[in-house]
Amino acid sequence: MKLSAEERERYARHILLKEIGGLGQQQLKAASVAIVGAGGLGAPSALYLAAAGVGRIRLIDDDTVALSNLQRQIIFETADVGAAKVERAAAALRALNDSIIIETRAERLSEANARDLLAGVDLVLDGTDDFATRFAVNAACHALGVTLISGAVGRWSGQVAAFAPQGPCYRCFVPSTPPDAETCERVGVVGALTGVIGSIMALEAIKHLADAGETLAGRILLFDGLNADTRTVKLARDPACPVCGHD
Ligand SMILES: [Zn+2]
Repeated sequence: MKLSAEERERYARHILLKEIGGLGQQQLKAASVAIVGAGGLGAPSALYLAAAGVGRIRLIDDDTVALSNLQRQIIFETADVGAAKVERAAAALRALNDSIIIETRAERLSEANARDLLAGVDLVLDGTDDFATRFAVNAACHALGVTLISGAVGRWSGQVAAFAPQGPCYRCFVPSTPPDAETCERVGVVGALTGVIGSIMALEAIKHLADAGETLAGRILLFDGLNADTRTVKLARDPACPVCGHD
């Protein structure tokens, strides 16, 4: 997919990088990415992927903007409170980059509709914060043969992992809903932390789509914001995994 003169100028700082270059930028333009959850992680991911020139971005979220979202969901403005998240996020992304296509799905992703909602994309980013949704996204990605980049945050810390179709998958890592599962609504989260984790998700997406560097496939990056500490841990495939164990 050739780049126009305007695109070559817009993405000049990418094209300068030997790991991206003109070819990598064309790969970003040709790519289609679904973002599940237009929240604390989905907002910065979507902004960076739109700015990066990912050709088609599909936003999936059935929620409306709440005043308490604005502390971290930087794609929204005060005037957006009460409006559908996917609509306001799409407007912000189009204002940022009108040369890309933004698709909206104002639906709640579930086991029943996950494959339909995610069909036809090259990569899925999941920034939702409940395990039922994450399991449904993971199972659909595995069935569709699409890589999943998954992020999570709470309080001061967060994590990012990438799950390739050949495994390990998210379910190898989290076999069932942990009994101590926490949500940001209950325990709180620092807004800037969601920016860090959402940006790492976007960075991983760009690497994956442009074939640059070593992605987090098969690894998880743990970020401790309160102590300013980062580490990466290898993930193992679970032969008894209910999603990828029988392949
Ligand atoms: Zn698995």
